[in-house]
Amino acid sequence: MSTEHLRIVWIYPDLLSTYGDRGNMLILARRAQLRGIPVETYQVRSDQPMPDSADIYLIGGGEDGPQALAAQRLIADGGMHRAVARGAAVLTICAGYQIFGHSFSAKGATCAGLGLLDITSDRGETRAVGEVRGDIDPRLGLPPLTGFENHGGRTRLGPGATPLARVTAGIGNDGQTEGAWAGKILGTYAHGPALARNPAIADLLLRWATGADSLQPLDDTWADRLRNERLAAAGAA
Ligand code: GLN
Repeated sequence: MSTEHLRIVWIYPDLLSTYGDRGNMLILARRAQLRGIPVETYQVRSDQPMPDSADIYLIGGGEDGPQALAAQRLIADGGMHRAVARGAAVLTICAGYQIFGHSFSAKGATCAGLGLLDITSDRGETRAVGEVRGDIDPRLGLPPLTGFENHGGRTRLGPGATPLARVTAGIGNDGQTEGAWAGKILGTYAHGPALARNPAIADLLLRWATGADSLQPLDDTWADRLRNERLAAAGAA
């Protein structure tokens, strides 16, 4: 951690905030506080400089127009590249996931991304809408992924990125794999918000950010109910 507080930044809520992406920040902050970790949260709008000294960055989903604008501004700003070089943990969702790659397609044009994840996104033939479920890379030691996806893009991974999960329902990157991770950057098409439906991913980000090997367990009775209901719903789809 860079200071005595865990610093969490929500990137460009004015441009990228679909399907309750703010919930990811709330879940992270709450799960840290319940472990006695003091937290400061920041919402950095697209007309503000991106701080490079935070511990965890969150970037959410968005429509094509705001997504293209967000990418331009993040590239011009440079703060995100410096933060990743410093070893910050990052959760990227849907449009934010595509922005972290080399390029993505928006409104018929190919747009440059940040190139911080070795992925490339193009437009698919159909829109992927509905429940997505997957078995997460065993190296991460997490239970199955559950989320809601709504995207036109399809994503190819290069050798520098590892799939986050193998798809067991829905589309994700291409119907086979879902999301990607490399270093402390994690990307997924799962909304929901993703961390409310996958608190184990919130705890992974907290472990990456704090350097802790393990965290005090929390009572996840309600989260587990939600997860079980949604995982079953995806199976029935
Ligand atoms: N605009 C992107 C796409 O359609 C991302 C959509 C989203 O964030 N929900 O692929």
